[in-house]
Amino acid sequence: MLLIEDDEQIVASLAKVLRQQRHVVEIADQGAVGLAKLNAAAPDVVVLDLGLPDLDGTDVLKMIRSISDVPVIIATARDDEETIVRALDLGADEYVVKPFSGEQLDARIRAVLRRGRMKAPSVVTLGDLRVDISAHEATIDGRPLELRRREFELLSYLAERAGELVSRDEIAREVWNDPLSTTSSTIDVHISALRRQLGETAAEPKYLRAVRGVGVKLVAPGSEP
Ligand code: CA
Repeated sequence: MLLIEDDEQIVASLAKVLRQQRHVVEIADQGAVGLAKLNAAAPDVVVLDLGLPDLDGTDVLKMIRSISDVPVIIATARDDEETIVRALDLGADEYVVKPFSGEQLDARIRAVLRRGRMKAPSVVTLGDLRVDISAHEATIDGRPLELRRREFELLSYLAERAGELVSRDEIAREVWNDPLSTTSSTIDVHISALRRQLGETAAEPKYLRAVRGVGVKLVAPGSEP
């Protein structure tokens, strides 16, 4: 695990407990050092203090997310809802509010790692549609679909949640990472583009079932509405 935290006392006490719990602990006292260590050490989880001396913690989080899917636990000094919500929107997996104990942090770390292991498989097959999420490839009957980046991300997200109705709010938050300015019509445009590639229309859906005003789900063709 990688601990990005500048407070020496906190680092010392956390590192002691975490090492007792058999974590391999890498420490960075600045954001830039943390990003370098993330690349070099490929930790299984990152604990990120939001109040760092060199960079803004949320900027460090954005940079982490642009290069890695590693679980990130935010450590914040204040129980500040706005900051926490923003960090979660930016892709943090969990948060702890200072002061917290090493045992508490260890429990959060185990929780995010457990969640990671339960993540959906990276290849999802529905009828003739095959979505390989890690390879960024989707095919129907072996024929590759021509999808733009966001269209693929939308398809992957729906594929991970196959059979579940996913709301537009959730799509805006999880696929666009921008719940405030992503409009329904932006999402609709991408759904239409996906439909074209999937060889279907809104009137005659195969894989994409939309429920007006609620959301959309990805299913195997021919399954119950
Ligand atoms: Ca700090």
